Amino acid sequence: MRIIVVGGGVAGLAAAWELERAGRSEVTILESERRPGGVIVTEQVDGFVVEGGPDGFLAGEPELPALAQELGIGDRVIEQLERGTSLWSGGKFQPIDAGLAATLLGIDAKASEVAAGFRSFAGGMCEPVLAVAQRLAGSLRLAQGVAGIAREGKRWRLAITGGSAHDADGIVLALPAYTAGRLLESVGVRGGRELAEIVYAPSVTVSLAYRREQIGRPLAGAGFVVESPSPDQIRACTYASHKFSGRAPDGHALLRAYLGPTDDHPAKLARDQLAAILDIHGEPLWSRTFYWNRGLPRYRSHHAERVAGIRQRLERLPPLAIAGAGYDGAGVSACVRSGREAGRLIAQRTAR
Ligand SMILES: Cc1cc2nc3c(=O)[nH]c(=O)nc-3n(C[C@H](O)[C@H](O)[C@H](O)COP(=O)(O)OP(=O)(O)OC[C@H]3O[C@@H](n4cnc5c(N)ncnc54)[C@H](O)[C@@H]3O)c2cc1C
Repeated sequence: MRIIVVGGGVAGLAAAWELERAGRSEVTILESERRPGGVIVTEQVDGFVVEGGPDGFLAGEPELPALAQELGIGDRVIEQLERGTSLWSGGKFQPIDAGLAATLLGIDAKASEVAAGFRSFAGGMCEPVLAVAQRLAGSLRLAQGVAGIAREGKRWRLAITGGSAHDADGIVLALPAYTAGRLLESVGVRGGRELAEIVYAPSVTVSLAYRREQIGRPLAGAGFVVESPSPDQIRACTYASHKFSGRAPDGHALLRAYLGPTDDHPAKLARDQLAAILDIHGEPLWSRTFYWNRGLPRYRSHHAERVAGIRQRLERLPPLAIAGAGYDGAGVSACVRSGREAGRLIAQRTAR
């Protein structure tokens, strides 16, 4: 029984890992990019650890520590160092409670969950991605974008950009909803179009490196959010090197600013505004900008019922499951859970 996981983000990797654990040897992961991980991107720059996408997960979420344990990297999970978020209201900082900070940062969690802090990995959020990718190296095919799917009796045929094709007895679509929805619509799944229409909000993150003495204002807590930011204003800033250990070499600081889409130069906006807010002298040692044209999904009302309805309709098709940020929660932990559930479902449905 051949199973294909489409998408090598964290959800797809978790699905493939679950299939591997269920004893499925014929699993292939097709990823359109030249690297696995999707939104999870960690870069090592001059001794700094720079996160382009997620920088951690809620400490109360068990999914990543459990996965890390299975992968033999359980000891790489690290705890948040500095806690607390301030509100910058154009002139001064005010401490705010965890619930308000979560709301302003767009984190879908209860105040108590945010107050318990975050965790990450010693080498950054790429660690579990790389560990799964290494364990499944023989199954992972990069630069293989799936352009279409079609039913062939009780099986599936997947068309790859560039002209080749694969046959499969079961598929996990671990893709953003705007792509998965389009594929589902093409095989007649009612509701596919609505999935395809889920909006993924654009955002930009800018990481800036400094020598510690360049920053005049003491950095208190893990960062700040900006009260009612204008379109070209930073929305928030994380003191990355205060939040987790190992993010900057001794005597240095790493800051990460979050912005909305802008026509201006995001790195310049972040540098100038942080200089004014944090009393920074001189230029950053370097900066690194990540553009997320389609970042976090924004669910509409009745999202969960809609997804449940689609999953019910998928039961009438040859084995096919959907997983990832577009369905059951956008956080990394929710994506791992969703990927693993999809993997289990397809393992059951393709059991001889
Ligand atoms: C800036 C930012 C910061 C975030 N911060 C946090 C955080 O701190 N904590 C947290 O828990 N969550 C955070 N999130 C959310 C979380 O990182 C994502 O929701 C999650 O990683 C998405 O995983 P996924 O596997 O569902 O999707 P993706 O990571 O989008 O993976 C989908 C994969 O499918 C591939 N693909 C697309 N089309 C095709 C195709 N046709 N054929 C084959 N492959 C294809 C893509 O290349 C990609 O690798 C953040 C997100 C963003 C954007």
